[in-house]
Amino acid sequence: MPRFSRPAPPVPCPGLFITGTDTEVGKTFVTAALAAAFRRRGMDVGVMKPVATGCLKENGLLVSEDARVLTASSGVADPHELVSPYRFEPPVAPLVALTLTPTLSRDGGGNRVRAIKEISLDRIKQSFDMLARKHEIVLVEGIGGLLVPLDKKSTVADLARRLDLPILIVARAGLGTINHTLLTLKAARSEGLNVIGVVLNGRSATPSLSERTNPDVIRRLGDIPILGIVPQMAKPSPSTAASFIEVEEILSRLKKKEERLPLPEAKRLSRIDRKTVWHPFTQMQEWEQGEPLIVESAQGVYLRDTRGNKYLDGVSSLWVNLHGHRHPDLDRALREQLEKVAHSTLLGAGNIPSIELADELLKVAPQNLKRVFYSDSGSTAVEIALKMAFQYCQQNGQPRRKKFIHFVNAYHGDTVGSVSVGGIDLFHQVYGPLLFKGFKVPAPYPYRGVSGADSLRALEKVMRKHHREAAGLVVEPLVQGASGMIVQPKGWLKEVGRLCRKYGIFLIADEVAVGFGRTGTMLACEQENVRPDFLCVAKGISGGYLPLAATLTTEKVYKGFLGPYASSRTFFHGHSYTGNPLACAVALESLKIFRREKVLKNLQPKIRALAWELKAFESHPHVGEVRQRGLMAGIELVADKKTAAPYPLEKKASIRVCQVLRTRGILLRPLGNVIVIIPPLAINQEEIRFLCRETLAAIGKTTGH
Ligand code: PMP
Repeated sequence: MPRFSRPAPPVPCPGLFITGTDTEVGKTFVTAALAAAFRRRGMDVGVMKPVATGCLKENGLLVSEDARVLTASSGVADPHELVSPYRFEPPVAPLVALTLTPTLSRDGGGNRVRAIKEISLDRIKQSFDMLARKHEIVLVEGIGGLLVPLDKKSTVADLARRLDLPILIVARAGLGTINHTLLTLKAARSEGLNVIGVVLNGRSATPSLSERTNPDVIRRLGDIPILGIVPQMAKPSPSTAASFIEVEEILSRLKKKEERLPLPEAKRLSRIDRKTVWHPFTQMQEWEQGEPLIVESAQGVYLRDTRGNKYLDGVSSLWVNLHGHRHPDLDRALREQLEKVAHSTLLGAGNIPSIELADELLKVAPQNLKRVFYSDSGSTAVEIALKMAFQYCQQNGQPRRKKFIHFVNAYHGDTVGSVSVGGIDLFHQVYGPLLFKGFKVPAPYPYRGVSGADSLRALEKVMRKHHREAAGLVVEPLVQGASGMIVQPKGWLKEVGRLCRKYGIFLIADEVAVGFGRTGTMLACEQENVRPDFLCVAKGISGGYLPLAATLTTEKVYKGFLGPYASSRTFFHGHSYTGNPLACAVALESLKIFRREKVLKNLQPKIRALAWELKAFESHPHVGEVRQRGLMAGIELVADKKTAAPYPLEKKASIRVCQVLRTRGILLRPLGNVIVIIPPLAINQEEIRFLCRETLAAIGKTTGH
């Protein structure tokens, strides 16, 4: 028996949700036209009008006329109860209809069961799932527009999200439609919905100026395709209308139905995970008792778990993902390299992608850097810089230089060397006896009383006294990430660089977290015009695809290792997978994407959108400080805003916020009391809004404010 059932071949997405910019724009007509068109292509189409108002009574039962039109076009005979589970007589919003009439719900046979007070999205989902199992595709018509309230708790947008379907917007063709369509698009995107396009309905036989110009304006301003312009008809016929809709284009835009693991398989995996896998930075006692989230697939900025839940990847899968998951160009680059060679060693041999990548990395790095040494994680990139700096000093006439200057709250990785230059007690204290000693200097943390000037004063004092013993200084440029996104004051890094030069100490810039666009520029050092002697990069280097890291250094350092074989000046370091061709090929393509998709330019409005959204957190009574640099942000929660008293660890304040967010379809991982937001650079502004607003709401829910 195979361990996993083979995935079935992809079939079209289970459905499409059709909404309107308003009521009476022709949603039912366009949905019916699509049903007719799909049917004509030989597809088995199901339809749904889950909530209908203005229904008529026939033989004591309420009947939705819209549902009937849809069923007729699709040519299927599903029970009315299934096609339209919630039907109301008054022609008003469902929320109002619920309060006006003591509506009775019915069982599958149409028998009255009990009075209903709310519209259950779960029940609609169950009906949808039944239809989706039966048909190749199900067209679901909404009611009114996206923000129409279904009941006190949910809107049409919530229903669309619950069904997890792509959206098609139907709008009228003439004057006023630009505003309505753009508003609907904005609402859809801020709700995290995926809109595939717009169909304009009811264009006059002799189109007015606005009817002629609207499609192009909507296309440009909404960044959305117009997938049909349906004319007014003397005798409206769905199948005639279908010829004005780009049916093939719509079909191609419906993503493939994702093969979901059967529940027993999901449960089996979760059981085995708890029994076998030891998770990093995770208290396993708690993990074993909880229900693990196991990712099965991903697309763009979204992850999907084995239970079929979808999450916005708000921390870029631990700060690594840049261009989104399954970016077609990265996938292709990986596949193409796979057809050549998956791995060959760099110890005493070369490979093509590692050469090309080194060349490209040096083009984006500060110009003093001329050599690239590969490894496979941020920790190793730093470890290598430390060893190189140390060995350089040893074999180039400065043997007393054996120590490193590093900062309080720094994080440079988990290996013994990188932990030695770290400064987060919670992670590092226990290893004290294992670590080599250096000089630890306070880093700026204005919110907790250490200014940039305080830090620099302490740094210069240490340098003045110990510069002859210091091989290097290690710093996270612009932001200390792992300690909670502590942003350095402007000019601080530049001053650190100046002091290193003044005292002849190697500057090691650890850009593992901040590199590759994270802070708004390709590298963080650029922003303060700092030229380090060593530059450590990892995480985003491969776009979040494969483990890869690099330590870049100068020609001077490189030359300090040259000599005859017997001189033992060789850098005796290298891992089995150093310079892995698959990882290098993807990293090379990632740099091309930066240029091709103008990633850095497009990032600027996103950074501003994030800044704008973060403002709303500042006044929250349990938010001490909000920090942002580029597309990385930290929201520090405090028990008491006046005194800045932190929440005790056992309160798990930020962990609880992230747990609430999971139920809202967002995945974040906090650091201590800091909520961290580091989405993929590919996130769009609406998604940023969704992410931030839900986070603020979750903080409110957790803290009771
Ligand atoms: N340096 C910095 C600044 C980091 O943020 C990290 C990881 N968070 C590392 C080094 C270590 O990287 P890795 O986890 O890939 O070893």
